[in-house]
Amino acid sequence: MRQVVEGVWRVTFALPLGIDHVHCYFLRGSEGAWTLVDTGLGVADAEQRWTPVLAKLGGRIERIVITHFHPDHVGGAADVAAITGAPVFQGRDDYAQCVRAWADDRQQRLLSEFMRAHGVPERELVRIDHESAALRDQVRFASDPHLLDPGDRIDGWEIHRLRGHADGHICLLRDGVLVAGDAILGDITPTVGLYPRCRPDPLADYLGSLQTLIELAPRVAVAGHGSVIVSPVERARAILAHHGERLERTAAALSEQPRSAYEVSLELFEAHLPPAQRRFAVAEALAHLERLADDGKAARLERNGRIAYVRR
Ligand SMILES: [Zn+2]
Repeated sequence: MRQVVEGVWRVTFALPLGIDHVHCYFLRGSEGAWTLVDTGLGVADAEQRWTPVLAKLGGRIERIVITHFHPDHVGGAADVAAITGAPVFQGRDDYAQCVRAWADDRQQRLLSEFMRAHGVPERELVRIDHESAALRDQVRFASDPHLLDPGDRIDGWEIHRLRGHADGHICLLRDGVLVAGDAILGDITPTVGLYPRCRPDPLADYLGSLQTLIELAPRVAVAGHGSVIVSPVERARAILAHHGERLERTAAALSEQPRSAYEVSLELFEAHLPPAQRRFAVAEALAHLERLADDGKAARLERNGRIAYVRR
């Protein structure tokens, strides 16, 4: 555990996902109490994981804030809340999506049907299903958290909603320091994907959020993965450019011949990917295809429950 910005301490846990670690942050509050932002994946030995961290920190955890509902951020929330007795705060939209994703039995089937409709072959679907089911076991979100809206304040930190990586993703900003979750990352580009029951054009949401971020102009950002972002505005501009390029590559992958999002994903990303990565690749290709479709540069065709895209 170390202090990465004045008053902001970081603890890092290993992740068995495509990305190998996740950061959680402790924000020092008034009177020696702390706000914990994000909780990592749920693990069987949560006490063993958190007790030494909390002992080293000293002072009590006053509250837990969740930036978004992805397993590596919300997964440990119920356990840490139980260990510390601290209340959990989560974005209003994000909590609704969290419940849909993790507490609704239909979600797994919907995701599977969605991936099939977008061209994912059966042999890969089986692997994706298997891995999604395993991930569900590592999500223990806290029920009925305090709901946060944009503009709310927590101990001087202002809540901003930066949609895109997740529909209701929230960030905390105070004195030029942005606790960004995965809204912006230093070393990799946050994934932006289309999923069942999510907002229809997540890439448009995300590009808008990057503009908002540029306007907010934080002087430094700390994020869920990777290094401290010393020039967040510059980084936001670089990610905007990246998506501009990826939109061009996506458009170039289309022709008059209908192609599924799966086929497009094979062109945009490596052909051989582990199941979770393939799911991200298809969802990411879809986010770009839907952006192009909304822009009139692609058309979506639906036949016999299969969806494909053509150039326009
Ligand atoms: Zn993450």
